[in-house]
Amino acid sequence: MSSQRKIRVRFAPSPTGGLHLGGVRTALFNYLYARHHGGDFILRIEDTDQTRFVPGAEEYINECLDWCGIAPDESPNKPGAYGPYRQSERKASYRQYAEQLVNDGFAYYAFDTPEELDARRREEPNFRYSHENRVQLRNSLSLSEEETTKLLSEGHPYTIRIKMPVAETVSFDDMIRGRVAFETNLVDDKVLLKADGMPTYHLAVVVDDKAMEISHVFRGEEWLPSAPVHVLLWEYLGWKDKMPSWAHLPLILKPDGNGKLSKRDGDRLGFPVYAMNWTDSKSGDVTKGFREMGFLPAAFINILAVLGWNDGTEQEIFSFEELIAKFSVDRISKAGAKFDFEKAKWFNHEWIKKTDNTEILPQIEELLKQHDITIYALDYVSNVLTLVKERMVFVEDFWEQASFFFATPKSYDVDAVKPKWNDSKTVFFQNIVHEFATMQEWTADALEPFFKGKITDSGMKIGELMMPFRIMLVGGKFGPDVFQIADILGKDEVIKRIEEALPYFV
Ligand code: GLU
Repeated sequence: MSSQRKIRVRFAPSPTGGLHLGGVRTALFNYLYARHHGGDFILRIEDTDQTRFVPGAEEYINECLDWCGIAPDESPNKPGAYGPYRQSERKASYRQYAEQLVNDGFAYYAFDTPEELDARRREEPNFRYSHENRVQLRNSLSLSEEETTKLLSEGHPYTIRIKMPVAETVSFDDMIRGRVAFETNLVDDKVLLKADGMPTYHLAVVVDDKAMEISHVFRGEEWLPSAPVHVLLWEYLGWKDKMPSWAHLPLILKPDGNGKLSKRDGDRLGFPVYAMNWTDSKSGDVTKGFREMGFLPAAFINILAVLGWNDGTEQEIFSFEELIAKFSVDRISKAGAKFDFEKAKWFNHEWIKKTDNTEILPQIEELLKQHDITIYALDYVSNVLTLVKERMVFVEDFWEQASFFFATPKSYDVDAVKPKWNDSKTVFFQNIVHEFATMQEWTADALEPFFKGKITDSGMKIGELMMPFRIMLVGGKFGPDVFQIADILGKDEVIKRIEEALPYFV
């Protein structure tokens, strides 16, 4: 139906707080679909529920999409020809559609007050406003035309509800799930227009998708139960031939697979669920995000892409360009995808290794600044990064792995080597500094045979002197290849460190 149309997809978050990784995955799949097909990716802010509006949330969403590298083609900040891009700004246009539905017999005015409905809910815990009881409630179906007109003219508050048909089946082809069918008897009469004149999500989403000429909707599986209402609204409003194709994305599950991953699981299990830090404006509480935890955007995107999608091979690492080229709806799974934080860390580790130093260096410089290191040559930092990348899961691991490149050791872990120390070892290190001074080529490749040759010449075993050498340079028994370390530190620094350290060994 929509194959001839320009591909236009939208990400339609409500600005209610931090963005859950499931939300970002929805944005990503929309984005990838648009880019793969040369279509448009739109950001629409669904802010009609004013009771849930949270200041700062819209800015957060924009920043998050920018950080992920999936900035929209059209958005409140970059309006195209299909505005407004904030639902609340379209407020005036929704009422006419709600009224049109009433006039055409597909919806009705409901005058029940919130107190009346609460009282009903207290009596009947499973109360639903539906075809079963709507004629017993206070609405334009149960009241006479005169009574309805009177209430309306007196300004009695009302909502407009959809009149769900009785005993019908609503079905549509979901791009992921295939044919899905719903019995209308099981769906309640959803409110379309609220007493404050604002549309509910159900009306707004249909009116907006139509107005914005959306061709395909990718959204979370939690919206599947609402789909029959939306399909009926497209039909009732006379727009059925313009209806987008639907794709309901599989849920992102808790690590153990039991239920949907929530922010609370992250707090409980110690990993982020939000894309970026979110600060609650009331309590000031900060919920940690992937960005601040040290995930690279490329890794984060890769992690999200494979939560419910694969390219049909064993490949797991995908660049952004590859994702755009390979993305296909056929390979999105129906089953929920378990979120595995250890796997997420593995992706970040792989991406740190793959990413060009120039892209990571700004963050490394920031980290150095936090540790009061402000004087360094960028080439030197880059060489250190190349050496320790292999050992980093997060950018901030750089400090743990490489701090000794920026300051001489404050202490030396000599406990294990001291009991076996002797004068020959002292003499060896006293001499080696002079030998080093004569070396023409100061590289790891030249150093290794040189140093080992000198040990052999001294009649000692290589194993006896390698660890002390390492401890002199880094302070402990850790770090990458010692000759690589010496190479980067440079000859003068190595000589200085041996001379400073030696007294601690004797
Ligand atoms: N505003 C809905 C949300 O917050 C959007 C659902 C949809 O994409 O239709 O997720």
